[in-house]
Amino acid sequence: MPEGNEIHRWAERHAAAFAGKAVRVDGPQGRFIDAALIDGRKLQRVMAVGKHLGYDFGKDRILHVHLGLQGDFTEGSGPLPEVRGALRLRMWNAAAVKRPEVPGVSKRHGWYSNDDGTGHIAADKVAWVELRGPMDCSVFSQEMWERLLKRLGPDPLNGDRPERLVAKVAKSKKAIGALLMDQSVAAGVGNIFRAELLFRARLNPFTPGSEVEKNTLRSIWKEAGVLMKAGMVDRRIVTTKPKDRLHKKGTVLKEEAHYVYRRQGRPCFVCGTKVLTKVMEGRNLFWCPVCQAGKQEEAHE
Ligand SMILES: [Zn+2]
Repeated sequence: MPEGNEIHRWAERHAAAFAGKAVRVDGPQGRFIDAALIDGRKLQRVMAVGKHLGYDFGKDRILHVHLGLQGDFTEGSGPLPEVRGALRLRMWNAAAVKRPEVPGVSKRHGWYSNDDGTGHIAADKVAWVELRGPMDCSVFSQEMWERLLKRLGPDPLNGDRPERLVAKVAKSKKAIGALLMDQSVAAGVGNIFRAELLFRARLNPFTPGSEVEKNTLRSIWKEAGVLMKAGMVDRRIVTTKPKDRLHKKGTVLKEEAHYVYRRQGRPCFVCGTKVLTKVMEGRNLFWCPVCQAGKQEEAHE
């Protein structure tokens, strides 16, 4: 599932491509019946909060998109491509799709570190986007959007202060590894950042929220802002510090980009102990039992 960095990046790209213009929207396979409510209207802005996108078409009409586990955008320049696959929605700029394609640079963006960030179209050259497989794609009223915002915790990419998160965690007996995945605690933090932020803080993921130092939470928050912002720019999530990498110079190797995420059974870069994994909140959690010493749960390498 894309994390907050990815969602904020889409918001920036789609705003650069479409905001301030009358935008065409359809659901060519009948999978987006609300299209008529916004088709041809001027897109005022694109908002991102946590893992939610909101395309504000004014007049109480906000297109809400949550990609969920499967959802993905494709984009391109030039004419609209043929309708293929289970296509939920298309959004395009009527003038831009009449222009010729920018040569050789229309491609799907990969997720996480699968994408090196190269070879993409400049955002203002994007003529159309397609959306497939989202968890939600529907038109919200302003009130519905605001209700959603109330449910979400602070978002490190929106410059929010961490105090609501700090208060919520301090009151909870739940494990910090579970709390960080709760979107009402921290909006936009997903599975990669959960694992990596906890490692960088040398915090055991099973520590109850109420036992985590408030200053530790504040520094985790600060790091989340910096690392997620970096992940917006180059589309890679790199959480290792150069001093902890075997290859300290040049492009960070894929296998050295994370401390613990998907590194189960491999030696920790800091202490050499094998990284462990266990399912927590429905997703695989990864941690080093030495660097993140504390309450240990049954786990496998
Ligand atoms: Zn370690």
